[in-house]
Order: sequence, then structure tokens, then C-alpha cells
Amino acid sequence: MNHELPPKEDPNTLDLDPDRYERANIPAGEPPKQDPVKRRRNFNEVFLGYDEKQAVVEALRCIHCPSPEPCILGCPVHNDIPRALMFIEQGDPVAGANVFRQTNNLPEVCGRICPQEVLCEGACTVAGYDKPVAIGKLEAYCSDYQRNHVGIPSREIAPATGKRVAVIGFGPAGLAVAEELRVLGHEIVVYDAWPRPGGLMVYGIPGFKLSKRIIDQKVAHLESLGIRFVGDTLVGQDVTVDELLQGNDAVFLGVGATHGNPARLPGEDLHGIYQATEFLVRGNVPVEDLPKNMRALPEFGPRIAVIGGGDTAMDCVRTAKRLQTQHGFPDGDVTVYYRRTENEMPGRAEERMHARQEGIQFEFLVSPVRFIGDTNGHVRQIEFEKMRLRARDVSGRPRPEPIPGSNYTVEAQVVVLALGYKVDPLLLKATPGVTGTKWGTVHVENEDDPMTARPGVFAAGDDVRGADLVVTATAAGRKAAYAMNAWLKYNSARTDIKTRRVLETLRV
Ligand code: SF4
Repeated sequence: MNHELPPKEDPNTLDLDPDRYERANIPAGEPPKQDPVKRRRNFNEVFLGYDEKQAVVEALRCIHCPSPEPCILGCPVHNDIPRALMFIEQGDPVAGANVFRQTNNLPEVCGRICPQEVLCEGACTVAGYDKPVAIGKLEAYCSDYQRNHVGIPSREIAPATGKRVAVIGFGPAGLAVAEELRVLGHEIVVYDAWPRPGGLMVYGIPGFKLSKRIIDQKVAHLESLGIRFVGDTLVGQDVTVDELLQGNDAVFLGVGATHGNPARLPGEDLHGIYQATEFLVRGNVPVEDLPKNMRALPEFGPRIAVIGGGDTAMDCVRTAKRLQTQHGFPDGDVTVYYRRTENEMPGRAEERMHARQEGIQFEFLVSPVRFIGDTNGHVRQIEFEKMRLRARDVSGRPRPEPIPGSNYTVEAQVVVLALGYKVDPLLLKATPGVTGTKWGTVHVENEDDPMTARPGVFAAGDDVRGADLVVTATAAGRKAAYAMNAWLKYNSARTDIKTRRVLETLRV
């Protein structure tokens, strides 16, 4: 078995059989997109999706590597990508979607927003000499096709076990746990502080990357399986884990990492300065799906500054641009400020490319020092200092260092802070027996056996790993569901995962 990459840019040197050679010479094709000038005026999805013919051609580019296929290894949920792509090239997208759904509860979401370039497509052998096969776009294509033409297939539910589980969190980990446990015959109720199910997929990810209708359809599918959703319920305040444990056999904590990090700078509490979540929620989500205190658009004006360098910062600038164009500032300025260079930016290159196409400006090697307000307490300016890069720090990236005497100010009527997320401390404070780590995340034994220090209370996803991806939360949620199922079967004593697996194998 040979997984050596062929030489870059020279497919003619590939040592491939004739079928693979032909596949290797098929040109890559991207799905069509909305024109940047048009799309910055609306919140509709940027990508318009493959049609059937384009999808077949793109799927044919897969050269079907011998096992273990690198794309499968690169995918956190280990989708059987070559098999799914084989169905697509044979003109059977529904069968392709069924393959993705075997391992992924949210293929239409992951196909759109996974950073494929560092996951499945980053591992794709074709990337050694051409653009990788567009695995994510094909996953979205076939799962969309299935959902729109025949619906998400129902799942067989095992006979009722009589066990009840409370899942906390409407996000990807919570939805994956809920679905997998329901299929195993348990009764599931999912709680969240937000009114509309979907968590960050509805409230955090703008509609131009992921249509909210897709999440609604997935939630309707879960409801059809018998899962119940209860919104407007902040666990730790409206109900406690202790109270939930009284009526349930186990509780799953999947609250994610939703608290924005502060800038810790003078003037941060001025009006017109938003945390990214509030700005995105108020800018993107229909008012009827918002809590009463958030039912108004965020402020915007001709100059909007976003501070940060990840995908959330790109979501904010692109939302800000759409708000400007829709509400009277078509030539407004939206700038992202980042303290390192573009090379160190943690977000996706594709997101930055889309932002630039939509007219977003970038300022690198700058860091805010303070926010300056007017007499009404509203932000008007930001003072920055210029930075230079020094040796790498613990994050592995070059450490930014201020350049003395380089300070300058810029005008801004609105500032958005997109400085990363942490776990809401309320849950740990309100839940005796569940312990935290020094990073403020929930402590669990390990990802295969994610029980907290409190028997019967499990956790997985961003509240355990810190802010991460939808696909990693989905993968963690699936593992948690299987560990919880074992716990629900053998919960008379605290048994470790290995023992539980042995018991399950023996069907004790
Ligand atoms: Fe790639 Fe993400 Fe789909 Fe896995 S879930 S195949 S990483 S797009």
C-alpha cells in the first residue's frame, strides 16, 4: 500500500492504473456562488450548491485510494467518503447521503462549515497535485438532495428501555447525543436557554454560511423520532442539574463555550461595543426567535471595527457589511483588526477570501489599547498600537510585541470583540459534584468515557474541549451517547468504560 503523494502540479507522472489516471485528469469544479456585489446585500447562502451533473463530475475526481483512506482518517466522524462519492458518481445522491448519515448526524451542516482544508480535504491524495476533491460540498449536495426530495430518512427506534435522559444544549453535541440515545430506546428531553433549537448553528452561524431552514428540518426530524425540545430554560438558573436528576436516569451537559472573552481594556463598557455573539445574534436571527431583551438590530454606522482573527471575526465583518448595505450605508467601511499577520490567522482562508470579495478591509499587526467615547458614553474612536512578531509562544505562533511610540487612533461608531469563547461559569457553580479544569471547562475522565465527577452526569463538546468545530462536537456527542447507553444499562455501580464494554460484549 503506497500513500506517498504524487509530485505537485504534474499529474502525468502519477503511477496510477488507467481508471485512476483518467480520474486524476478531471479538472476541479467549484459550485456556483452568489456574486459578491449582490450577496453583500442579503443573508442568503453564498454557495448555490452543485447541480447533479457538476456533482457527478466532481465525485469522479476521487481516485479511490487503498485502505486506510486518508480522507476517512482526516474526518473527525470518519465518514466513509469514497463509498459516498461512488454513489454520487453513479447518480444516486440519496444513497451517498445515507452513507454520510451513518456516521454524521449533521452532514448538511458539516459539509458547509467544516474547515475541510485541514480535515478530510487536507488529507485527500488529490491535493498532492491539484485541488482536493470537494468532499464537503459533495456531502452538502447529496444530503441537501435527499432532504429536499425524499426527506431525512427516519431511524428505527429500539424497544423502550424505560430510561430517561435530560440533554442540556441545543447545539451539535446535544443534538448528536439526543439522536443516538433516542435510537437506542431511551426517552429524551433537550433543554436550552435559547428559544429556537439549533444552538450556535442558528444563533452563531450567519445564514449566508448555513441556512437556518436546514436546522429547522433537522429538528423536525428529531421531533419525529420522539425527542422533545424545551427552550427558554437556562440550566443552573431556571432549573438545576440536581432537579433534572430527580426525574431522569442521566444528564448530558452540552452547553458549549458561548461566553465571549473580554478585551480587558479601558472604555470596553462604552455603548456601541458588542461581544461577537450578541452582534451576530441580533444581526442575523429573526426577532421572534430572540429573547425579549435582544429584539432589536445591533447598532451600525459608516465605520465598523471588528477585533479578532478567527472565523467568528469573519462572520461579524460580513454581517456588519450586510447590515450597512441594507440600512443606508452602502459605501460604509468595515475593517478587521488583528495583532499578528494573515499567516497566523486561525480562521479559514475561504472565509477571508469571501470577506475581501465583499469589500472588507484588513489591518494586521495592530492591537487595541483603549476605546474612546463621546460625552454620551458612546464609542467614537479606538486607539491602537502597532505590533511586530517575535519568537513563537506556547500557541506555536510568533508572539506579537508592541512597537513603542507607534500608537494611533481610528474612528468607529461600532466595535465588535471577537476574541474567542469560554464556557459559561454558571453551570459549574450551580452543579455540585461536577468539577472544572483550570481552563474553566468541564472535567471528564476522557473522551471515550466522558462522565464528570458526578455519577450519571456526562459532558462532551465545546464545554469539555473549549471552543472548537461543529464536527468535533458531533463526534464527541456520538461517543458520549454510547458511553451513556452503557452507563444506563449498568448504572448500579460506577463501572469504567472498558468493563462496561466487556459487559456489553458478554450481554450481561
Ligand atoms: Fe469532511 Fe467535515 Fe464531512 Fe468529515 S464531516 S467528511 S471533515 S466535511
